[in-house]
Amino acid sequence: MTESIVLFGPPGAGKGTQAGRIVELTGKPQISTGDMLRAAVKAGSPMGLAAKEYMDAGLLVSDEVIIGLIEERLQNDDAGQGVLFDGFPRTIPQAESLEEIATVSSVISIEVPDDAIVDRIVGRRMDPETGEIYHVSFKPAPTEIQDRLVQRPDDTEETVRARLGAYHTQTAPLADWYSERGLLIRIDGDASIEQVGASVEEAIASIS
Ligand code: ADP
Ligand code: ADP
Repeated sequence: MTESIVLFGPPGAGKGTQAGRIVELTGKPQISTGDMLRAAVKAGSPMGLAAKEYMDAGLLVSDEVIIGLIEERLQNDDAGQGVLFDGFPRTIPQAESLEEIATVSSVISIEVPDDAIVDRIVGRRMDPETGEIYHVSFKPAPTEIQDRLVQRPDDTEETVRARLGAYHTQTAPLADWYSERGLLIRIDGDASIEQVGASVEEAIASIS
């Protein structure tokens, strides 16, 4: 089995922002369960419509649905040399299922305190044409594209609280789970995008 990397952290930690750098350095494709779910919502599939209720409420989608998505995605040829998981696994049962279908060689954990998360999420904007992630204060988009930027429906202050609750109860225990297996690399995510990027590069260098 080939080796995959997990990008781990609370919502808004900067996983999507840093994923591109890891893809460039490792050649592994990024698999974001959040992006896959949003694509299913946009396509209007029954699964997407069911998932949307949970996403809008800031709750996790069921493990069964998520594992199904991952199993299907790993069938693609581009997954043959391992992948970069972004936002997955988010529960211990998801990590246990992942063990059956892929080998995880390292888990890069971007650590950010809750009080920094709310500002990051509420100010997040996305360019629907390129998928680039911006922030109204921390990473402003060029003026000429600002009109087309979109905000995710779940990026409200109220929903962020629920998402942080789900993170602490269901996802955070995975840090210990992976640490016990000697796979966890902790990174200080409470720094500039460039500084976090440098730490991510160091982490990748240490495992390649
Ligand atoms: P995640 O994928 O972990 O949910 P994102 O990469 O989408 O997080 O980042 C959330 C928001 O925070 C985005 O608006 C992004 O521009 C911004 N952001 C990411 N990293 C940092 C950082 N180190 N400092 C300040 N803002 C950041
Ligand atoms: P963020 O990093 O900002 O939390 P994501 O795009 O990763 O956002 O996820 C958005 C939403 O999609 C989550 O709040 C959750 O409802 C759902 N989701 C994404 N990945 C998973 C997963 N692995 N397990 C369960 N739900 C997920």
